[in-house]
Amino acid sequence: MNIEMMSDVVLDVQNLSKRYGQLLAVNGISFSVRRQEIYGILGPNGAGKTTTLEMIETLRPIDSGTVILDGIDVRKEPKKVKRLIGVQLQSSAFFDKLTLVELLSLFGEMYGRRVDPLLLLDEVELRDKASSQAAQLSGGQKQRFSIAAALVNDPVVLFLDEPTTGLDPQARRHLWGVIKRIRSEGKTIVLTTHYMEEAEELCDRVAIMDHGKIITQSAPQLLIDDLISDGFKKERVERLANLEDVFLSLTGHSLREE
Ligand code: ATP
Repeated sequence: MNIEMMSDVVLDVQNLSKRYGQLLAVNGISFSVRRQEIYGILGPNGAGKTTTLEMIETLRPIDSGTVILDGIDVRKEPKKVKRLIGVQLQSSAFFDKLTLVELLSLFGEMYGRRVDPLLLLDEVELRDKASSQAAQLSGGQKQRFSIAAALVNDPVVLFLDEPTTGLDPQARRHLWGVIKRIRSEGKTIVLTTHYMEEAEELCDRVAIMDHGKIITQSAPQLLIDDLISDGFKKERVERLANLEDVFLSLTGHSLREE
């Protein structure tokens, strides 16, 4: 990595480990994320993705290794790091009786910030739900709202843990669009997923994680190219479209969940 690339690194993780009793849930992983990148940690259930994110987010103690976020050591200065990051809360963490505008103002106050709730709702395409309560939102809308809540402190890095799990294909694609726009406005995004298609569509680079280790990391297309140049051939001829494409084509791309 040359000097120019290093200065571009906003998150640097080196030899990070976490043990739960006998289980080495995160086993000496290293990766770095560049500014304004969408970086995906891809892996099956139990691979160690959430544990990794929680250590970076200062929510879980680090057993060993270092994490530097925007030049700050997460172990040494966790409070400073908290101010620089946005963490997507699960929707159950919202007070059901408050409106979206009230909730965003409240979250802003927790950071000592005055926020413009409507601008944040624009960011996630929910302005029309400004006066609704969190409990009245659909699954996709709740996920988008939880991203707005994670943006109240104007974070440098936004962390999303399985942001589209449980969403239907249209809601998932809608959320991808929102995430891409947030990146284009200057944010760095680190997300976990176990959807291959999501990683391919959304992420500039991915780390593939299994049993606590990163097996490989690169741009999705480069990983695919490498596999093909190694002589890999699918047993069946690749289909030009899949069932999800049929569904989306029949129902219309522009149709979004209410
Ligand atoms: P998922 O997609 O299911 O959330 P993940 O890749 O995020 O999976 P983790 O939640 O980080 O994986 O879990 C990694 C391993 O550590 C799993 O085997 C899990 O059972 C275990 N684990 C997670 N949290 C704890 C804990 N607090 N105590 C003990 N074991 C834990």
